[in-house]
Amino acid sequence: MSFRIGTGFDVHRLAAGRPLMLGGVQIPHEAGLVGHSDGDCLLHAVCDALLGAAAAGDMGEHFPSSDPRWRGAASLIFVAEVRRLLADRGFVIENVDATVVAQAPRLAPHLAALRTSLASALGLVAGQVSVKAKSSDGLGAIGRGEGIAAQAVALVSSPRGTNQA
Ligand code: MG
Repeated sequence: MSFRIGTGFDVHRLAAGRPLMLGGVQIPHEAGLVGHSDGDCLLHAVCDALLGAAAAGDMGEHFPSSDPRWRGAASLIFVAEVRRLLADRGFVIENVDATVVAQAPRLAPHLAALRTSLASALGLVAGQVSVKAKSSDGLGAIGRGEGIAAQAVALVSSPRGTNQA
């Protein structure tokens, strides 16, 4: 048995009139995240953390924005693909911890839903998943409400002791 960790980070710009998707959940807000896909920075950070734990590349490599297949894609598709990739390599997801940084909307009322959605997408139970929220105290681009960022850490195990590839 071996254990490996990975980190992920993502940030997307907010624009008026788009649905705000975070963790696969639509959050009521007057603006949503802009991206080639649905812009779900929380799921993108989690995917990058999992790919990082497996040393299996990153979101840009697996899901390039130049690929029309991913235009407007629900990011839950990326999570499913990353899960399959890890399973193929013999990795089991142990836990994920993520932080979303947003000045608005206030995410505290939605954290339970985000956690449930993320756990479901990853095939985990709620106790294996943590989602936290921070404002950036009004500082910088995120503090001005221009975008939302997320970071994530993932731990995976390899029951077969697969510590390569
Ligand atoms: Mg992204």
